[in-house]
Formats: sequence, C-alpha cells, structure tokens
Amino acid sequence: MPGPELVPFPEDKRLPKLVDTVVIGGGIIGASTALELAERGVSVLLCEKGRIGAEQSSRNWGWVRLSQRDPREIPLMLESMSIWQGLAARTGHQTGYHSCGSLFTAKTAKQRDQMQRWTQNLQSFDIDSQMLRGDALRALLPGHQGQIESALSTPLDGRAEPQWATHAIAMGARAAGAAVMTSCAVRSVDVQAGQIAGVVTERGRVACTSVVVAGGAWSRLFLGNTGISLPQLKVLNSVLRCSPVAGGPDVALWADGYALRKRADGGYTVASGAENVVDIVPDSFRLGLRFLPAFLGEWRSLRFRLSGRWQDEAAQARHWTPDQETAFEHCRILDPSPAQSALKSGWAAAQQAFPVLQQADVVQSWGGLIDVTPDAIPVISGVEDLPGLFISTGYSGHGFGIGPGAGRLMADMVLGTPPVVDPLPFRLSRFSDGSRVRPDSGR
Ligand SMILES: Cc1cc2nc3c(=O)[nH]c(=O)nc-3n(C[C@H](O)[C@H](O)[C@H](O)COP(=O)(O)OP(=O)(O)OC[C@H]3O[C@@H](n4cnc5c(N)ncnc54)[C@H](O)[C@@H]3O)c2cc1C
Repeated sequence: MPGPELVPFPEDKRLPKLVDTVVIGGGIIGASTALELAERGVSVLLCEKGRIGAEQSSRNWGWVRLSQRDPREIPLMLESMSIWQGLAARTGHQTGYHSCGSLFTAKTAKQRDQMQRWTQNLQSFDIDSQMLRGDALRALLPGHQGQIESALSTPLDGRAEPQWATHAIAMGARAAGAAVMTSCAVRSVDVQAGQIAGVVTERGRVACTSVVVAGGAWSRLFLGNTGISLPQLKVLNSVLRCSPVAGGPDVALWADGYALRKRADGGYTVASGAENVVDIVPDSFRLGLRFLPAFLGEWRSLRFRLSGRWQDEAAQARHWTPDQETAFEHCRILDPSPAQSALKSGWAAAQQAFPVLQQADVVQSWGGLIDVTPDAIPVISGVEDLPGLFISTGYSGHGFGIGPGAGRLMADMVLGTPPVVDPLPFRLSRFSDGSRVRPDSGR
C-alpha cells in the first residue's frame, strides 16, 4: 500500500559546492531547521534521500498537541504552537493548522488521577487544560454513543495536515534562499582536523562548516558510521483515512481503542491508539537493556514480532566509505505495510463510538515507522568532540507538532545565539558521555 499522497516538490537540480550548513533529512524537523536558518541569512542545503516529507512527517496522525507531553517538552511545544499559528502566512503555503482542541478519555480512576496530575505541569504557563464530564464533555462529541466518564480537555491543542505541512515549510525554506535537493542521499560527513568540513552525497561533495542530522528513523545508522552511538529503535504504527462525513466531532479525540481527528477534506484520520508493532531486529538485542524500562511501561500497547525487517536490517552495512552506495540510496522511502489487526480494531471502535462513521468508506491506509529513544524525548544537541555536528532526531511519536519549535531551537544552536528554550533535557550526552566512540565498538 503506497503512503499518503504528497504534493510534488519542485527541487533544485544543481548541488551547491559550498554552503554554511547542510541539513540531512527533509522531514518536518529538517525542513523547519532549514527554514529558520535560511530566514536568518545562513546559506543552507537541505538534502533528502527520497521525497520531502515522505516518511514519518506525512504518515502521522496530524495532532499538534501540548496535552500528555513529557513536562520537559512543554516550553518547546508552546514555542512550536505559536509558530504553527503563523506558518501558512509565513511560507505562503497551506499547512491545515487549526486549533480544534483535544480530548484524552480516562478509562479508570487511576488514569483520571494521572491526567489531573499532569495538568499541574501547566500551572506556571496559565493554559487551560482540565478534566471534563457530563454535558460539557458531550457538547464536544456530537453523535457519540456510549459512556465516557471523563476526559482531559486542552482547547489550545490542534491539528495540521501532514501531507501539506512539511511541503509548506520546505517551500518556505526555499523561498528564503535554501537549496533543497531530493533523491539525494548524504552518505557521510567529511571530518578534517577534528571538525566538520563537509558532507559527501551520492551526487558529490559539499563543503560546509556545520551539519544537522535530522534523518528520522535513519539517524542511528547514519551517525553510527561517524562513530556516534545513538540509541534509537523503530515502532510501527498503522493509520487509515476515511471519506468525508458530516456530523462527527471536530475535536481531536484519543479514546478507548481508537484515536481520530478531522481532516481538511472532511474525512477522519483514524488509528487504533492502542496497538504498535515492534519488529525484532539486530538493534533490539544491541539496545534491549536501554529500552527495557520503556518497553515495560508500554507493554500493553506493544506487539513484538519477527518479520522480514530482521533480514533487511541484518543485511545493512553499518560502516562504509564515502565512495560506497549506502542503505539511504537503496531505500528511498520507508513504506512499511500497516498492521491489519490494528486498522480493523481502530476503525471498528471508532464506528461503534460514532455511528455516523458507518456512512464513510476507508479510502486509504498506511504504516509509519516511529523513531523512538529510550526516554521518549528527542535528541536536539551538538556533539561535544565534533564541532559543527548537530543532531535533531528521536522525536518518539510526537515530533510533528513540536517540529517547527525544534527547528527554531536547532537554528539557535547552530548559530550559537541564545536558545529559545533550555536545550539541556535534549542533550545527546544523557545517553552516553556525548563523545564519539570507535566505529566498531558495537554500541
Ligand atoms: C503513524 C504515525 C503517527 C504519528 N502521529 C503523530 C502526531 O499525531 N503528532 C505528532 O506530533 N507526531 C506524530 N508522529 C511522529 C512524527 O510524525 C515524527 O516525530 C516526525 O514526523 C519526525 O520528523 P523527522 O523529520 O524527524 O523524521 P521524518 O519525517 O521521518 O524525516 C526524516 C527524513 O530524513 C531522510 N533521510 C534519512 N537519512 C538520510 C540521508 N542519509 N540522506 C538524506 N536524507 C535522509 C528520510 O528519507 C526522511 O524523509 C507520528 C508518527 C507516525 C509514524
């Protein structure tokens, strides 16, 4: 099943020979970083191995949410939300951003108490986020059948269209002067005298003084070749969209067995919300202990399986020289098959809760590989002993909403200007000493 349809991107044809910064990866993180840098007068090359936004950034649910976030991400998410509001006007392209509010339902008293406690994280920000019940809750859920005892409501939350947003941001970056190359994999960084001197792409070398690795699910492989150990695994989430239907909720809703949000075309993007697949791959063993606490915390929603991905990843070279073809050229777009059981159960639960959805057809479904870190927050960081190398990755299933803010923070880091939020929680060195390791050390 092909992934969601994307707007064609008018990429640049000629690879520049020299820029200030090369950004690797044309997802929302790389595109937002390129936009921020280009607008500040930096010469930027954004290099994407496949198509702009074709991996996670177009496959996600489209939620732009503050609610239920790790408290360490809240300041950056608030910055991001204010950027989303002006992004379409700033780039001249639609993003589909709409502040529709969100609801997370509580099944048990324990969940309700946890949600209530979470709202305390917002106290110093003066943001409305509260548990709703009864008529106030029902008013947000027209056509809902069945019982919902209570739900966490955050009116500031919203949605955007994943198939439009990254395209818009990359177009904005281009208009601000960035070069954008697609079908152009970066094979490696060029390090001279202990610092970044350029990158080698499949189309040739580009000299630069800084590189931002925003390679999504590929970042671990790319960085490993440079001797940097990034603990990162992939988790499959499955999504469908249905045809337009009138009368359903406008609010983005995460409930028992399904999650849905209204689309700009009048349909809904629907997922199970409770089923993610973890393919067992060689990295599962290399990184298993680091991820154990996360897996134990999330085990109810995880299904482990052995699939063809074991062979694919086992066959991938982990070290290569710049003249060799790489996995980034062999796989232009990660397009995993969705898990049918998750699609079926999510759609059935959504139709049961909102009978109006029985009038809609499932128009498309797709899978997306989410890149996760052991503590489920990203790495937005420099690399201590390799000046000029920066990393922005590992957004652990919630990087779409925070992407524009993450781009701003990374631009601050590259330029050495005061950071828009404190980047300390996102440093690479929380996983190691932050320094490079020998390429063959197996970490
Ligand atoms: C099914 C699903 C649902 C989700 N729902 C939400 C949601 O509702 N809200 C939310 O906030 N987040 C959500 N997320 C998470 C969100 O989509 C991601 O966190 C975010 O898109 C990550 O952006 P990225 O730019 O880091 O990665 P990606 O979008 O994956 O982009 C990385 C890009 O780098 C390119 N690349 C990699 N290596 C190289 C190389 N060597 N050379 C050139 N290019 C390279 C890849 O081709 C890719 O296009 C969801 C994710 C999935 C999969």
